[in-house]
Amino acid sequence: MIDEIKALEAEALKLEPGEAQYGIWLNAIHEYTQQYLRETDTGKAWKGNHDSTKGLLDFKIQENARGLDELLEIIRKHVDNSGINAASGGHLAYIPGGGVYPTALGDFIAAVTNHYAGVFFGGPGAVRMENMLIRWLCDLMAYPTTALGNLTSGGSIANLIAITTARDAKGIKSTKVPQSVIYLTAQAHHSIQKAIRIAGLNECQLSYIPLDEHFRMDAQKLEAAIIADKAKGLNPFLIVGSAGTTDTGAIDPMDKMADIAEQQDLWFHVDAAYGGFFIMVDEIKAAYKGIERSDSLTIDPHKSLFLAYGTGAVLIKNVKALQDTHYYAAPYMQDTKDEVAEISPADLSPELTKHFRGMRMWLPLQLFGTKPFEAALEEKLMLCRYFYEAVQKIGFEVGPYPDLSVAIYRYVPEVAEANAFNEKLIKAVLADGRVFLSSTTIDGVFWIRLAVLSFRSHLKIIDTCLKVLEEKVGDLLEGMD
Ligand SMILES: *Cc1c(COP(=O)(O)O)cnc(C)c1O
Repeated sequence: MIDEIKALEAEALKLEPGEAQYGIWLNAIHEYTQQYLRETDTGKAWKGNHDSTKGLLDFKIQENARGLDELLEIIRKHVDNSGINAASGGHLAYIPGGGVYPTALGDFIAAVTNHYAGVFFGGPGAVRMENMLIRWLCDLMAYPTTALGNLTSGGSIANLIAITTARDAKGIKSTKVPQSVIYLTAQAHHSIQKAIRIAGLNECQLSYIPLDEHFRMDAQKLEAAIIADKAKGLNPFLIVGSAGTTDTGAIDPMDKMADIAEQQDLWFHVDAAYGGFFIMVDEIKAAYKGIERSDSLTIDPHKSLFLAYGTGAVLIKNVKALQDTHYYAAPYMQDTKDEVAEISPADLSPELTKHFRGMRMWLPLQLFGTKPFEAALEEKLMLCRYFYEAVQKIGFEVGPYPDLSVAIYRYVPEVAEANAFNEKLIKAVLADGRVFLSSTTIDGVFWIRLAVLSFRSHLKIIDTCLKVLEEKVGDLLEGMD
């Protein structure tokens, strides 16, 4: 048996090739990533090219090793050369972020050390770091010390955790579901409806409150709807607001919604996945008034804190409610109960073993300090306002003045149907690729969006964007003559 073990050990030892090899790999990856960033600087924000990824399938997972150089070449050819370049400052579609470099370094440290971030007993440093970051987020939002939360993989899971917590805190057992009402707007992110369904609340009544002319929830109508529903014997229990909608960046009137939630005794959840970190910009802090009165909140560091994809956060004002929904004990976990100086992430989310996400957030914040983040956020706000003025000068109609860093606009030609024209326009912008834009439809109107949120988006790319739009409108109008 010993001989057999030794033979297996000799093969298994290949999993630890050692320091010299690691140095060589790191250098190669440094070269490759720097080249990627250099090309990002000058290359396209939208590459399309979906078929270029098919070649990946030729490199099957196999018994024998391949060299790193060959693998980087495969990645270059079959992964990097397609779709969105989400690292590019020209990514002005959906909700970008960019991915500040130290996110990667933090992930590297987290993976090499493999610190256990699920339970305090096993990873007291990792858990303290994550809870410290959550408390920093709570401070930003002026949440009290009774609040805590969880670093999630993104905003969708954060919304799910908040909604399941609200469900249990408000005692929505299965028999109560059909009479229970959730209030939101048509501008709520679809991850809310998804969370409602996953949380077993699909048979709740969803009450879509009308929007005002800024695409914000009309608070008066919210109050009227709740009162009317109560009179009908229904059970209103949850209001979902947005601090920065995905479509237009609108911030709902949170202070008024908090009043209503308080008076009518509903759970108030705010989805600030996109807009959350703009609260750091003094000039627009006032728009967030009332967010501190919410019961739960979603905020995405991989959006307005510019981290690479993979980090969202949920904050819950009464941590006990969060724990009641997510805590579970098991006999094989019995040794972990003695060390409880910090609440463990595993007791506050569906996850047990998880990525040590704190490190990828802590490292950039510590390395840079918060000042450049604040400046970048204010810069994005101003770039959006600059675009909003400039795009009108080149003949576009615009939506409401942007609350944050998203603007909607469209070209209304004299001789063609506007929706069809703008659909063609966005296709022409994508085919060009210098900037990446996306569109939306609100009340039957097709709008093109600009979302300035990559930390790499600066004045120059906004000017390029305006130039591309002007050029493409010219081409399309010419084609119609
Ligand atoms: C992006 C977004 C989400 C979903 O977050 P993910 O991190 O993509 O899962 C939820 N709400 C809003 C307002 C968003 O912009």
